[in-house]
Order: sequence, then C-alpha cells, then structure tokens
Amino acid sequence: MGTQITIDSLVKVFGNGKTAATACDHLSLTIEPGELFFLLGPSGCGKTTLLRMIAGFIDPTAGTIAFDGKDVTHDAPNKRNTGMVFQSYALWPHMTVAQNVAFGLNVRKIANPEKDQRVIDALAAVQMEEYAARKPNQLSGGQQQRVALARALVIKPDVLLLDEPLSNLDAKLRNDLRLQIRRICKDSGITTVYVTHDQKEALSMADRVALLKLGQIVQIGTPRELYRAPESQFVAEFLGETNLIDAQLQAGSIEHPRYKIEAGVFSGPSGKITGDNNQPDTKQTLSIRPEAIRLRKEQSENTLPGVLIETAYLGETAQHLVEIKGCPPVKIAEMNPYGSTSAVHPNPGDQVLVEFLADDMVPINKDASQ
Ligand code: ADP
Ligand code: MG
Repeated sequence: MGTQITIDSLVKVFGNGKTAATACDHLSLTIEPGELFFLLGPSGCGKTTLLRMIAGFIDPTAGTIAFDGKDVTHDAPNKRNTGMVFQSYALWPHMTVAQNVAFGLNVRKIANPEKDQRVIDALAAVQMEEYAARKPNQLSGGQQQRVALARALVIKPDVLLLDEPLSNLDAKLRNDLRLQIRRICKDSGITTVYVTHDQKEALSMADRVALLKLGQIVQIGTPRELYRAPESQFVAEFLGETNLIDAQLQAGSIEHPRYKIEAGVFSGPSGKITGDNNQPDTKQTLSIRPEAIRLRKEQSENTLPGVLIETAYLGETAQHLVEIKGCPPVKIAEMNPYGSTSAVHPNPGDQVLVEFLADDMVPINKDASQ
C-alpha cells in the first residue's frame, strides 16, 4: 500500500527573460509509501507549484517526477490517480454531499452497487455519513472540508494532495481537524503530501517535513528533528521562537563546549559541534529556545546575571524579556507561571539569574541575508 514519490532536480520557471521567476529550483526529494509528508514555508516559496507539478496541473521546466519508479513527469492529471483537496473546498453547490463525493466515481464510470458503497465508506471515514443528503451551504466550513476530503479519498488515489486545507477555518476547528486528518491519512495508508505555511500544523501532523525557501529545500526531517536541531537561522526562526546568541567558543572545549559572552561563561551542548562550527576562539551563533531558558532563585552551573525588562502573562505561560550583557534581549517562556513550580516572581527592573539549559541549545549557521 502507498506509492513512493521520487522527485529529481525538478525546476519550474514561470515567464521568461526579465520577468522569469523560478518557483522550483533543482529540487530533489523522496517521499516514502504511506508517508504523511509536509511542504512547509512562507508564502511564495513554491509549495503550491510543487504540489501542482506532482498532480500534473503544472508542467515542469526540467527534472523528473516518478510514482513507484514510473516516470509521470509529463503525464496528464487524469493519468496519475491523485486526489486533491484545496483551501476553498471547491464543492458543487447544486449537488448533495453524496453526489459531490460520487462525482469522481461517475467520471470513472463506476456503477452501483459499488458506487454507493464507496460513497458511504468515504463519508464514514470523515464521519459525515449523516449529512449525505445535505447541500454544501447547509454545512459548516469544517464539515465542507471533510466532504472535500471524502471526495478525494473515494477514488482510492495513489497519492493524496492537500493545499492549505485548513486555512479558511477558525483556530479551534483547525486544531480538531488536524488530528482527524492525520488519522484518516494514516488509516488509509495513502501517501499524502500536505502544503501549509503554518508551522504548528506541520509539527503536529507530519511524519516528515521539508521546509522550503525560494523554491529549494532548506532542511528536511521529522518535526522533532527540525525543531530541536535546526541547521540555520531560517529554520530555527520559522519553526517557532528562538534566541540567537553570539558567543565565543573557548579554546580546548569542543567536546564539552564553554562559551563566553560579556555577562559571563556558560556550558553548551556536549558533542554537537561539527563542521563549520569547530574552530575554538571564534564566534558562534547559538539558537536557544525560550522554553530552554529558566529564571532561577540561586546561582547554579549555567546561570548568568540579568535584569528583567518586562513580563507578558498569558495564563498557561508567561513570556519574560531579560537584559543580559552581551546579547540581544533574551526571551524566556515559563510554564505554569505564579504556580507551585514557579521559582521566582520578579518585577521589571529586578536583578534576575538566568539558566541556559546546555543540552537544549544548538550551534547554527547564521543566515547571510535575512
Ligand atoms: P506558495 O504556494 O508557497 O505560496 P507558489 O508556488 O504559489 O508559492 O508560488 C511560488 C512563486 O511562483 C511565487 O513567486 C509566485 O509569484 C510564482 N508563481 C506561481 N504561479 C505563477 C504563475 N502562474 N505565473 C507566474 N508566476 C507564478
Ligand atoms: Mg500556495
């Protein structure tokens, strides 16, 4: 079950001469059978273009796309058996839910009783059986999107393609549907490519994520790999909040690195310094997530002195901003603030002690252009 998708040196250039725009730039990627794979990136980075080339709606300028080793690069969409779900649902308003779902089966000349059974099964997969007789305008946005998903699934596609399917829904519904869509994709075993600009959606749903920028893959990995081991400033900053701290790596400390900034010396992650980052006595950039920094009552191994600038109280978390000599204002996220686990409750202007969690910081490459 599930189709492997192999993309090799894929290029798409729109227009020509001075107006030429490269939406996909020699991109290579293998998506494994049954994988729920995410294309993530800012608006305009080429996600939709790549998805539509996989579907066959856009003809690539160069490179190849293969399904299970068979070249489909220039095959028409109806020759590839892909199912597609769009941000706008794109349901037929004059048809009932059942008729909308049956549409692709009619096109494929699949007759009863198989047709009715497949419509029932597809609606059951998205928990919409009860709504079979309704028209789309009698459904909520979330229900319409589940019908659109059923309509894509009913044809038993080799590959399911979703382009920002939750972007038109409100936040609460988006959260509910994330888990439902993940379950439906994993239960069906269909290889799924899911496009979004929302990092929370990608982190919470994906088996693997490719983060795109200017038509190229910047980094690829599981949600945890991307969040915890970003290789560049772009990745660290796109996947949530981070602090970028320039520090001096002290001589002879590569295995158990010691870093110096104006406020003092602190330990970094053991055994993580490789490649470009292995020169002692040079400046390195460390990415430290706000949740990997703590306010402490007492001085300990990795604490530095600072002054609280301000605190934003958000209920389940508080966001503190602290001035530490030698780095930009440091963002700290505290869970359960003012609760029983809260160590200190400083006011703006107070001296504070700040602990950097050594194993949670990541040496990264600072981007040349931001
Ligand atoms: P995303 O889905 O990540 O927002 P797109 O794939 O839609 O990005 O677009 C990538 C780039 O290609 C953008 O710069 C966009 O303006 C350009 N582009 C997309 N479609 C066309 C088109 N039909 N003609 C010209 N340029 C296009
Ligand atoms: Mg798009």
